This record gives sequence, structure tokens and C-alpha cells, in this order.
Amino acid sequence: MLVTTSCSGIRENGVESRALPRNPTRSVRIGSVTIGGGNPIAVQSMTATHTQDIAATVGQIRDLVAAGADVIRVAVDSKKDAEALAEISKQVEANLAVDLQENYRMAELVAPYVSKIRYNPGHLYHHEREKPWQEKVRYLADIAGQSDCAMRVGVNCGSVDPDKKERYDAHDSISPMLESALEHCAFLDSLGFTRFAVSLKDSDPRNVIEVNKRFAAERPDVPLHLGVTEAGMPPDGIIKTRIAFEQLISRGIGDTIRVSLTVPNSRKSEEIAAGRKILDDIAAGRVRSVVDYGLQSLNIISCPSCSRVENEAFIDLAAAVKEMTAYAKDYAITIAVMGCRVNGPGETDDADLGLWCGPNHVNLKRGPEEVGAYTYDTILPKLKAELDALIAAKS
Ligand code: SF4
Repeated sequence: MLVTTSCSGIRENGVESRALPRNPTRSVRIGSVTIGGGNPIAVQSMTATHTQDIAATVGQIRDLVAAGADVIRVAVDSKKDAEALAEISKQVEANLAVDLQENYRMAELVAPYVSKIRYNPGHLYHHEREKPWQEKVRYLADIAGQSDCAMRVGVNCGSVDPDKKERYDAHDSISPMLESALEHCAFLDSLGFTRFAVSLKDSDPRNVIEVNKRFAAERPDVPLHLGVTEAGMPPDGIIKTRIAFEQLISRGIGDTIRVSLTVPNSRKSEEIAAGRKILDDIAAGRVRSVVDYGLQSLNIISCPSCSRVENEAFIDLAAAVKEMTAYAKDYAITIAVMGCRVNGPGETDDADLGLWCGPNHVNLKRGPEEVGAYTYDTILPKLKAELDALIAAKS
């Protein structure tokens, strides 16, 4: 069953999950879905069929809708694509979006058929070079307003506004992206057009975390669309994306997400399933990186498990840790329980207490320091002793 998280932190299947803090972003409606403003995080995908192959594209949109997609982007690169989009929009019940590539004037051809248009500030320089970007954005905002469309200002690490790049050190890829996004937000605001979201995408999840954190600190009111570009094939593409989303969503950052995966057309709906699973796991504390949820109470995180788990006893251990440590619920302490020796040793460094599981032993850590390795039967009292010592130190 697909599970979505609500702002109250209660999952729809009735299992209690932590209350994720959310940034106080504006509400932005995209067709029948509203992002920001405390709404559930929307999950998006994009068609990978040839848009002019109307039957294939309609089929893929229907697959994505059936998988639970809230918004579906369609590639439109030419007038023929735009004509196909007009027909596709008649055949599907979906919140459609399009990317405007370099020819921003395509907006007037596509806007009547979609709920959102995305433009990339770095692409506005290619056509009509003599025209200031502000005039082009004003035109886009007018078109969006007339067609009841939301907009996304989509900044991408590979196509940043050249003026911005020149102003920063070549090693600093984040500041030009950030400056470009902030400038466009300020300009759209000045036009009175506030129905927009922003995305800041990079292929390195660490950059995605950094740039989105910095943007959210400056503009906590603007909804963010999160994604890692060129993430690749599953499972690696999902893992990269998950790392970025765990660190951002746990901090209240992110109103809509896309997991970009390199998969055959018949498997495109895996992007939606992966996105929903990541959101569900973050809300339940099943995370692969140590996540600070900003709680002033006990924070127990355990990895979602995967094929690397070497002893199934890990699953029971994670549940037993939760039960045994309930008495410490009022202390701001993070305990991480990780399922394998591949990621466990590194990923537990940032927790106050960490357990990572090998085939026969569980390794106990106090921050980055190793305490010892114990059998699955004897680990809990050892953990309790460490937890008691931490509580005593805090009292
Ligand atoms: S910590 Fe290991 S077992 Fe757990 S999800 Fe990560 S790789 Fe898989």
C-alpha cells in the first residue's frame, strides 16, 4: 500500500511516525494538487516516451497516475511536440507540467494544456540575446497567469546563468545557482506573481543538500522542488537521492520531490514508488544517514535495510532498541541502528550512540568512538549502560 505522510506526522495506515517540521512555505496550486503551505509533499515524475508518440505518452502518463504521481512532466521541444501535448492533455486526467527549453516563447503554445511551466534561468540567454531576461520572465509570468499555471524556476548545476558563474570561483558551483534562484524569486515577487516553486538540482547529493539549505534559509517562504539530477539506475540512483532527501526533508525543506531514475519506459513508475518509499521511511525514522530531526526528545533511526543485511536479527534488534530505550524518551539523544558493515561504521559516526550489525556481532559506538562488539543476545544491556551514562552526563 502506498503511504503518504501528513504534516501531523501520522501516516495514513495508522502507524505513528514522527512529526516532520515543515518550512512555512506559500501554497502553490498545480492543477488539483497544492504544494507548500503544510500540504503533503507531492511526488512527481516525467515521461520518457517520444511526446509525438501520443499513444505511448498517454499510456505512460496513465501508468504514472496509477502509481500515485501528483504531477507529471512532459518533454516539449518543438511545435510538433506542443501539438501532440494538446491532444495528450485531452486523453488524460493528470496534472501536467512542461519544461521550457531554450525557446521560452513555446510557453504560449503549451500553457493552455498544462498546470505548470518550468523555466531554467540559465536558458533564457540563448534566444533574443539583446532582450533583458526580465522582459522574458515578465512574458512567462503573464502567460502563466492567463492560463492558470504555476511556474517552477528550475536552476540546474549544468546550465547556470553565465553572468552569475563569472562572479564566483570556478570551484564554487553553489553560490551562482543560489544567486540566480534568489534573483528570479525577487523579480517574480516584484511582478506580483507568487505562484511559483524553485528547484536547485545537482548530480552530487552533497551539493543538493547545501544549496537547498542555503536557499531555504534565505527564502523559507518559497516552496522547493527537490531532486538529484542524473542520479542513475536503481539502486544507486535511489540511494543518492535518498541521502539528499533525508537531510533536507527532516529539516522541513522540500514541498515536492522527483526521484530521477534511468529505467526503461515500462518501469518509469518506479520513480513514484521510490519517492513514496523515501518519504515514508523518513517519517518513520528508517534512514541511511544520521538525520537530526530537530527533536528535543529521543531520536531513534534505523536503516530501511537492503540486500546488504547479513543477519536478519537486525530487524528484531531495531524494534528491541526502540522498546528498551522508551524510558529515555525525553532526552535529546540520537541512537542509530544500521544493518551492515558497508555503511554502518561511517553512518553511525554522527549519532550519540550507534549500532551496526555484522553477521554474528553488533558493534556499539559512542559517537565516532568504538565501544566494543557484542552478540545479538548481549548487546541490549551494553547499550542501556551507555545510554544511562549519557543521561547522567546531561542531568
Ligand atoms: S546501512 Fe547497510 S543494510 Fe542498511 S540500508 Fe544501508 S547499506 Fe543497506
